[in-house]
Amino acid sequence: MAKQPIFSPLISGEKIGCFAITEQGCGSDVRSLKLAASRDGSGYRLNGMKWNITNAPVADICMTFARLEEAGPNAISCFISETAAPGLTQSVPFDLMGNRGTPIGSLTFDNVALAADSLVGVEGQGLRVLYFGFLVERIFTGVSIVGCMQPVIDECLQYSLKREAFGRPISDNQYVQGHIVQAYTQLELLRSVVVRGLTALEKGQDCSTLASIIKMLASEAMHEACLNAMRIHGNYGYRRDFHFERLLRDSIGLFFAGGTSEIHKTVIWANLVADAQNRSKAKDNLRLDAYTGAGAAA
Ligand SMILES: Cc1cc2nc3c(=O)[nH]c(=O)nc-3n(C[C@H](O)[C@H](O)[C@H](O)COP(=O)(O)OP(=O)(O)OC[C@H]3O[C@@H](n4cnc5c(N)ncnc54)[C@H](O)[C@@H]3O)c2cc1C
Repeated sequence: MAKQPIFSPLISGEKIGCFAITEQGCGSDVRSLKLAASRDGSGYRLNGMKWNITNAPVADICMTFARLEEAGPNAISCFISETAAPGLTQSVPFDLMGNRGTPIGSLTFDNVALAADSLVGVEGQGLRVLYFGFLVERIFTGVSIVGCMQPVIDECLQYSLKREAFGRPISDNQYVQGHIVQAYTQLELLRSVVVRGLTALEKGQDCSTLASIIKMLASEAMHEACLNAMRIHGNYGYRRDFHFERLLRDSIGLFFAGGTSEIHKTVIWANLVADAQNRSKAKDNLRLDAYTGAGAAA
């Protein structure tokens, strides 16, 4: 399948795409995915199921990851296909707590035949595609949360200046100010780190630590801002016809979508350790150079 005709309508918004990794048996541990790919003539067959996928019930195009054992043990490959492909079934939307604007559901692959050019990248190297996709997803989560948090803060500020209790605006209380200042501080931090992440991504630099920091900060900050927005708005914030309760429910989904904070901490930790080891190796090499004279020669 030539890629250009697929991506143009996705970019223009004519078609909806989904990015399907998660399965019933695996979420964080992506390497244990079970969707099975097998070679079939010059193309492939897919069998199995993807689970809890944003836009799965409505997507026209699906990018997915499957285990192609013929390419080697544990070889994961990436495929892109039309969801109208025979044998591919889209579920109805799952009944979830939030994120109801983007239906989430499953995709069942029953011997779905894909042409050879449905393969994205190289057979068995799907994790390279996936990890790059993760970087983009995590950094762009930060971009969208910057856009979501700003109006929440603006509304809290305006409401707190107008709403009176005990004969004065509630904004006169340092506890109330603190909620807004905290959210604003988080937003400014997020903005800065998002710019660094986007710059690194554009330059093709390694930005997996930054991407994890952005995803973690964005989801935690958005959740805290929504919770405190409800506190500031008192009983009005708790109403279902007011948007803070919806934003709060959606923000909980962010704890999982794009990887959990626990997993991002493990990524950041692994990168910190690797950096520390590389620095200490570089220092050892410097010391060795001094003894062997290599440093002097340079
Ligand atoms: C709103 C929403 C949208 C989503 N959209 C998509 C989508 O479009 N495509 C897609 O593929 N998936 C999607 N997902 C699924 C999402 O990626 C997974 O929920 C997420 O990766 C976590 O996997 P899991 O739910 O299976 O939890 P598990 O992996 O089972 O983890 C359960 C708990 O254990 C913790 N845990 C697991 N391993 C470790 C560890 N090593 N160290 C510390 N803690 C650990 C986790 O942090 C979590 O708290 C979406 C989820 C939600 C809620």
